[in-house]
Amino acid sequence: MTVSYPFEAPSSQQLFDRASAVTPGGVNSPVRAFGAVGGTPRFMVSGSGPYLTDADGREYVDLVCSWGPMILGHSHPEVLAAVREAVERGFSFGTPGAGEVELAEAIVERIDPVEEVRLVSSGTEATMSAVRLARGFTGRPKVVKFAGCYHGHVDALLAAAGSGVATFGLPDTPGVTGAQAGDTLVLPYNDLDAVREAFAANPGQIACVITEAAAGNMGVVPPKPGFNQGLADLCASNGALFISDEVMTGFRSSRTGWYGIEGVRPDLMIFGKVMGGGFPAAAFGGRREVMAQLAPAGPVYQAGTLSGNPVATAAGVAQLRLLDEAAYARLDAVSAQVRELAGQALSKEGVPHRIQRAGTMFSVFFTDEEVTDYAAARAQQTWRYTPFFHSMLSQGVYLPPSAFEAWFLSTAHDDAAVERIAAALPAAARAAAQATEG
Ligand code: PLP
Repeated sequence: MTVSYPFEAPSSQQLFDRASAVTPGGVNSPVRAFGAVGGTPRFMVSGSGPYLTDADGREYVDLVCSWGPMILGHSHPEVLAAVREAVERGFSFGTPGAGEVELAEAIVERIDPVEEVRLVSSGTEATMSAVRLARGFTGRPKVVKFAGCYHGHVDALLAAAGSGVATFGLPDTPGVTGAQAGDTLVLPYNDLDAVREAFAANPGQIACVITEAAAGNMGVVPPKPGFNQGLADLCASNGALFISDEVMTGFRSSRTGWYGIEGVRPDLMIFGKVMGGGFPAAAFGGRREVMAQLAPAGPVYQAGTLSGNPVATAAGVAQLRLLDEAAYARLDAVSAQVRELAGQALSKEGVPHRIQRAGTMFSVFFTDEEVTDYAAARAQQTWRYTPFFHSMLSQGVYLPPSAFEAWFLSTAHDDAAVERIAAALPAAARAAAQATEG
């Protein structure tokens, strides 16, 4: 199928050419390259509220929000003030500091199963460390993960991963050895029987089951009722740890993340994105007895030069402080509005679609069928997404450049931003309707 790119972006193209000469693929994270949708990736120069402005001076309503962190919109004045104040005091000390205590306390206060928390700099680092801790705590080697769930680019967890791995259709990645992936069991999402069988086939071998609290990296696929509780129960009865990855859902799907919606208690939890306020901060935490195994309290080693960075923690603390129930009510309302508008526009043009949500997070699948696992997510008509995406982009709405990603909104998405989305959707839905495969 040929897709026309409705407008040029000469300054972005120039930057992309320069970037491509010095950076693999011209980007520092694959999905940013527009590989799945084609065209010139937009190089952004500023963000304010719900808007991003690119190098050519075009403004977009941002429905990516830095893939989740910018839940209050860009450059929120109070977060900005906290960051400015922190920067004035110094950038990084490599010592303990008050900001990291405040951020840890904010997480522990909100998320009941988290008694202790360790701060790191990325979600990848957090999942890598949590899996190491689970292995150290249980003395067992194997890890169960689910197809389509993405937990960062941790070697052992890249098998059948979502996000960019799904976007680019990579079955696995070179560079991960058989030994690194050999202890990973990849099972279909939402399939408790498969987990039961895995425990039966690997007695005393499984250290942990890790899952996205509600999957968001194959598009949004919430767990079936009872799935997460079933995982927790199977882990408990088999001496394994249940790890819930809330990097995407944490402090987004509700004030207390997906945990707050479902109430299933994991042994370990992983956070990132929102808790860093747009700066590199992430965390893993959980039961005190498990966390006590971590150095220097215990023998499982884990460390980081920039862990608990004062600027990042100041941003995170300020952002979490602003995220009260009213903020989530606003986010819920605006997310319902955009879901409805997208649904109406696609229905009007007869485009097969399904909008799935997990709290305030949602995504649009181009299929009539309910999507409950990775196989179903992959079966959608992704070729309809390309013209849909470019039509929205040309009308000033920045969607994720992949059909396998959630749409992210912020509390700053006001009526004017929603109106712009509403105005763009009919033509984009028409483009999706006219799309042909191949
Ligand atoms: N876990 C989940 C559920 C994620 O969505 C992501 C990133 O998208 C990660 C882990 C990895 O986080 P990071 O990109 O900060 O390494």
